[in-house]
Amino acid sequence: MSTFNAPKGTYDLLPPDSATFLAVREAIARPLRNSGYGYIETPGFENVELFARGVGESTDIVTKEMYAFETKGGDRLALRPEGTASVLRAALEANLHKAGNLPVKLWYSGSYYRYERPQKGRYRHFSQVGAEAIGAEDPALDAELIILADQAYRSLGLRDFRILLNSLGDKECRPVYRAALQDFLRGLDLDEETLRRAEINPLRVLDDKRPDVQKQLTDAPILRDYLCDACKTYHEEVRELIGAAGVVFEDDARLVRGLDYYTRTTFEFVHDGLGAQSAVGGGGRYDGLSEMIGGPALPSVGWALGVDRTVLALRAEGVELPLPTVTSVYAVPLGEEARRVLFAKVTELRKLGIATDFAYGGKGLKGAMKNANRSGARYAIVAGERDLAEGVVQLKDMESGDQAPVGLNEIVAELETRLG
Ligand code: AMP
Repeated sequence: MSTFNAPKGTYDLLPPDSATFLAVREAIARPLRNSGYGYIETPGFENVELFARGVGESTDIVTKEMYAFETKGGDRLALRPEGTASVLRAALEANLHKAGNLPVKLWYSGSYYRYERPQKGRYRHFSQVGAEAIGAEDPALDAELIILADQAYRSLGLRDFRILLNSLGDKECRPVYRAALQDFLRGLDLDEETLRRAEINPLRVLDDKRPDVQKQLTDAPILRDYLCDACKTYHEEVRELIGAAGVVFEDDARLVRGLDYYTRTTFEFVHDGLGAQSAVGGGGRYDGLSEMIGGPALPSVGWALGVDRTVLALRAEGVELPLPTVTSVYAVPLGEEARRVLFAKVTELRKLGIATDFAYGGKGLKGAMKNANRSGARYAIVAGERDLAEGVVQLKDMESGDQAPVGLNEIVAELETRLG
C-alpha cells in the first residue's frame, strides 16, 4: 500500500494478467497487418474542437464524458475519447489521401479516456485496437473489416459473440427518416432530457436502454423502410460479401451507435457473457466525417475493438490463451565469483534469444530455488565455489528434478540444444 491508489474507474495491468492483454492486442492486429493496414500512432490528446466537430456536439461522449482542459498556454485540449477523429485528422494533415493510393488503410492501438460511471467492463481509461480505411466507397471494404474482426475474435478462441449489422442511410435518405422519427418521438411520454435529445439527435433515442423508453419505441418508424435505392443496394452487397465469407451476422434494424458521424454500414460485436456492457467492439462507415473536420469528401469505414472487454469475454468463456513461457532458464549463483561467472552466462543466453533470469540480491540456495520455481523456468543452473573450481555448473531439470554437472564452457550450447 502507498498513500495513492489508481484513480477511480481505472485499473493497473499487472503480470501475469497483462500478458493476456498483450496477446489480445496482437491477435487483433495480426489480421490487419496481413491485409494491408499500416500502423499509425497519434497523440493521447487533441484539440477539443476536433472531437466536438468530429464525434458530435450532441453525443454523451462529447457533452458529458470528455476530459477537456485548458493548458497553461491557453490551448483547449481533450484526452482522446475515441480513435477515428484523430486518425482521420492525422491522415489529412499528412496528405496521405493525396498519395494516390486510396483507400488509406491504417490500424492503431492505444489508451482512450471517457468520464463514465465506472462498472464492470466500463472504465474511465480503456484500451482499443482500431482500423480505418479512408477514401473509398466500396462494399468490399466494409465487408473486409467485419471479416477481419471476426477472424481476430475467432483466433482468440471466442465463440459466444454475435455480429449485429444495420445501415444508417446517407445524406439523401437519413434526413427523411430523421424527420419521421422525430414526429413519432414528439408524441411519446418522455422526460425533458430525452425530448431534447429527440430534437438534436433522434436516432440516439433508439439506443436508450431504459425499459420504459424501449416499450414506447415498439412502433417507431424503422430506418430500413426509408433507405434510398443506392443505400439498399450497397447494404445488400455488404451482407452478401460477409455471408459468402462464412461470417454469421444478424440484421439489427434498431442498431444505432453513440457517435454522430456514422452513415450506411453500422455494426457492433456483442458478447453474451458480459452482462450490461456487452459490446466488445463496433464501427461503421463515416462518409461525412472528413468534411465535418474541414477535409475533402473521403468516404471511409472503420472499427474499434475494446481490449478490456475482449479480455473479460475470454474469461467469461473460460478461454486460456497459450501464453509463451516467461522464463526458460534461471541462474542461481552461490557466492561472489559465481555471480560474475553466471551473470556472464545469463547475458550469453539472452543474446541467443533464450529467456533467462537471475537470482539477484545474494539469496541463499533455498530462497533462490524458490524464485526459480516461481519463474516457471524449465531449467536452473546453479554454481558455487566448488563447481567453479571443477569448471562446471549444476544443470537442474525443474520438471523431473534431475541434476547433473555440465562443463562451464558447454552449458550455453547444452541449453540451446535442450530448449530447441
Ligand atoms: P465505441 O467507440 O463506444 O463504439 O467503443 C468501441 C469499443 O470500445 C466498445 O465496444 C468497448 O469494447 C470499448 N469501450 C468503449 N468505452 C469503454 C469504456 N468506458 N470502458 C471499457 N471499454 C470501452
